Amino acid sequence: MRHVLHVVSRRPTARIAGWVAGPTEGVVGMSRTLRARTLALAAAVAAMLAAGIPAASGSDEGGSGELIRTAGQEASVVEVLLPGVDELDRLVGTGVDLDHNVSRSAEGIVARAVVTPSEAAALETRGFELGDVVWSQDTADARIAEREETIAEHVEANEAFEAAAYDEATPADVSDVKIIRADYFTSFGQGFLSVEAKWAQGQTSNQQLTVERDSGPGTAFGSGGTQNIGRFVDAGVYLYHRGADDVATRPDRIRIVSPTGDIAIATVEDWLPLPGEDPSESPYFTDFITSYMTPTELYDRIHQLADEFPSLAEIVELPYETNGYRRKAQALLDPVGNRLQVDSPSAAAGEYVYAAASFGPAVPAAGLSGSFALGDDGVDAPNDGCEPLVGFPAGSIALVDRGTCNFTVKTLNAQAAGAIAAVIVNNVPGAPTSPGGNAPGITIPTVMISLADGTLLKTSLPASGRLLPGIPISNNARVGVDSLAWGHEGGNDLSIEAVDPGAPNSPLSVTVNGNHIMVSLGTNAAGARTSTAAQVRDAINASPAASQLVFAYTYRGSSGTGIAPPSPRRNLSDFLSAPDTVSREPQPVYAIRIGKHRDGSRMGVLAYAQEHAREWVPPLVAIEAAERLLRNYAHDGQTKQLLNNLDIWIAPSINPDGGHYSFYDFASQRRNMTRHCAVTGVYDLNGRNAWGVDNNRNYTEFSLFDGYDGASTSCTSDVFAGPSELSEPENKNLDWLAARPNMTFSMNLHSSGNYFMWSPGAYRLPGRIPAPRPTLEEESFFWGASARILTAIKEHRGMSVTPARTGPISDVLYSAAGNSGDMLWYKYGIYAWNFEVGQQFQPPFEDPDITEPSAHQEAMEFANGLVELMRVAYDFENDHQRPTSSLKVTPSSTGGMVNVEFVVSEPAAVFYELDGDRPTLGSTLYASAGIREGGELLTVPTGTTVNWFSVDSAGNVEKNYKPDGSGTNFNTATVG
Ligand SMILES: [Zn+2]
Repeated sequence: MRHVLHVVSRRPTARIAGWVAGPTEGVVGMSRTLRARTLALAAAVAAMLAAGIPAASGSDEGGSGELIRTAGQEASVVEVLLPGVDELDRLVGTGVDLDHNVSRSAEGIVARAVVTPSEAAALETRGFELGDVVWSQDTADARIAEREETIAEHVEANEAFEAAAYDEATPADVSDVKIIRADYFTSFGQGFLSVEAKWAQGQTSNQQLTVERDSGPGTAFGSGGTQNIGRFVDAGVYLYHRGADDVATRPDRIRIVSPTGDIAIATVEDWLPLPGEDPSESPYFTDFITSYMTPTELYDRIHQLADEFPSLAEIVELPYETNGYRRKAQALLDPVGNRLQVDSPSAAAGEYVYAAASFGPAVPAAGLSGSFALGDDGVDAPNDGCEPLVGFPAGSIALVDRGTCNFTVKTLNAQAAGAIAAVIVNNVPGAPTSPGGNAPGITIPTVMISLADGTLLKTSLPASGRLLPGIPISNNARVGVDSLAWGHEGGNDLSIEAVDPGAPNSPLSVTVNGNHIMVSLGTNAAGARTSTAAQVRDAINASPAASQLVFAYTYRGSSGTGIAPPSPRRNLSDFLSAPDTVSREPQPVYAIRIGKHRDGSRMGVLAYAQEHAREWVPPLVAIEAAERLLRNYAHDGQTKQLLNNLDIWIAPSINPDGGHYSFYDFASQRRNMTRHCAVTGVYDLNGRNAWGVDNNRNYTEFSLFDGYDGASTSCTSDVFAGPSELSEPENKNLDWLAARPNMTFSMNLHSSGNYFMWSPGAYRLPGRIPAPRPTLEEESFFWGASARILTAIKEHRGMSVTPARTGPISDVLYSAAGNSGDMLWYKYGIYAWNFEVGQQFQPPFEDPDITEPSAHQEAMEFANGLVELMRVAYDFENDHQRPTSSLKVTPSSTGGMVNVEFVVSEPAAVFYELDGDRPTLGSTLYASAGIREGGELLTVPTGTTVNWFSVDSAGNVEKNYKPDGSGTNFNTATVG
């Protein structure tokens, strides 16, 4: 593997060599195959069902044991402890949401599932053992807070800058432009000037700034030429203008005249290399990210890059718009719900909504009355209830703040102090969520109220009041409504209520007043309500006025025979909380195309990220790599070589709707936002976090529809394959990208787990029958190129992607039917890799300990790997060196026989004949003996004549032999 193991190292001090493939994991490859990349397999969904994948939920009544994610419950990442691969397959077969992290050890397998408390209970019901909680909603909240703090700091710095000033040209206290840096350096004898400058209007104006150079000390501005610098905007906040350009002479000073006429002047400095770097080596600019970015911000960034480097890059709008970050507004005609009442004369007197915990007893039907009292534990944040309470008046209702410790710890501390109930005050804005957890010995109810309500109550003590449970309702008495208009187009303005007329023999009626729909329930002669849910549904849908506004349905396929209860006024909502800066329209998906020749004449390389919405780090890898390519082109020879010879496509967010939903609504969102559930299924607002197609299961090769494992037909499964292959616009876009004739390499950027994988990515059960394995030649190339890419990753901070996490997806992770890597490889013949970046979906952006998970460090190291992939592609295109090969002959334990192996000088396929015939491409292909075991051992009779030749990954044939000709310059040997 000579030619693929040299690593291009720009940072010798950080270089760590010696990555070695590990031993076999003991999983047996089932077949060796030729180039059968476009196998058509009969659809066999039945096999899927037989393998334990749940059928689509048709008439689910929300019963226990269902793996359905209910809105209002938060999701956590929980370990699932498995004794072996069969149990892993069974777990995958449940359709549960697994993250990309599977650890294998002698004790067994630890997978990680993203589950709500009810989903966790359902897994335990199915006999799975759960381990530690490794991530919870609090983690995501902290990430959002960190991001907002960073953005606020940038805004503050901008404001400070507007007040400050610098230079002799325009007085310091009024100048609106400041030069931050002006650095001169040379590379291969060519001089370059890099400039960073800040302009006070940079946030609101997208104008470039023009830098005028002098041509040496005492010369005029402009005599050395000019260069433009563009805005650097991160996460929507302008930071400064920047840019580098080649210069004929070293300028002494530069001048920038801002668009308002203010003038900044600066003296040019010599660029100083960092310690340990070769001062004769030109700088290689890195590190262009400062915080997590939403899809809107990612697209803004690549547009800015394309604007700044028009000769090197352009934006391509992919042909399919997504369905958009938008939903219909919804409501349920449910009776009065859980209430916390506060009595007068407290300033907080009134009624508030609470969410009941999933653990401990429920609030009794008669309610629980008492005084409200702070649960003071006297330590740190004294009201978090994480330590035993101090001076708590027994018999009271304890008020404790969310945070720092588990909900169950707070409840147990309150209970020990004699509280009759625990009320947890949320620590983030918005509706309260159901506290989850599991602890024996809890005897008092636990509820959560919103931050706003709780803050009011805490500041209005003393107060007394009560907790009252909601009036229960059976699902067959429930009615749901959806607005016909999208939420943002009027649906959110609608409201509905159902009233008991309080008089006998009243007819069921529906009236509309403006945006308000009033249902008056029917009664009998005794004045009792008689309207069923089905009748209410039909009355709404039959009302000419109401049916212009909404569509009504019974709950999850119920026949609706229950008597519908009165319902307080319900405001319909789409429950979308992103700011207006996030478009609610169908979303164009963008890629940035980078290269000097963007006409299809150069080899295509594709990187794409965020198929899975909650994976926030991979898009940063994409952006960092794009910036490195563009900002180093002018002065870095290797970068220039890449851009001059490759056609690079980088799509930072394939699934922008899901991405926005993950940032603003539900951090654990994996899929797109599209509801495919039927009106008879999980269609109502409680299901809104359970909808969407897993974009990485909706592709065309070895999919669920072909009978492969690791995807679900259930619209609520987090591995829902969609209604059909390529049903989703996100998937059609990737298919369009992959279909470009010059596309040759790709990288699918996911998180987490620090994996590096390729096809096959799916197998069939039973028997774990995989999609066809790559040929030995191809797999050799995958392994050889991987060694280079993983070494580049390691150069950043020494992090190793382990051999156990390198290899075909279905070997090192689990089956993932219909994934994109398999489509690119089998359908289009693209060398398709998959990164699983980092250790968490949403690690802290920064961590002071460089060995800890951090989005910043992970993006930097995997950007190294992505740029190295570009170099692999370049070398692949430019590899004209023919492989060489030889025979290795060893004694056999069988008399009269010898063992034969082929040894090749680089990743190459070997075709051979043992009967003296001339070898051709139709001859036997020398195969790997199994996963990771290298070439197979052939046992042949002593005296056998072996004829063979080899072909490398770039198609170079050994000795320029013509397999389809008549020449005899193949290799030949008689063994014995
Ligand atoms: Zn993923």
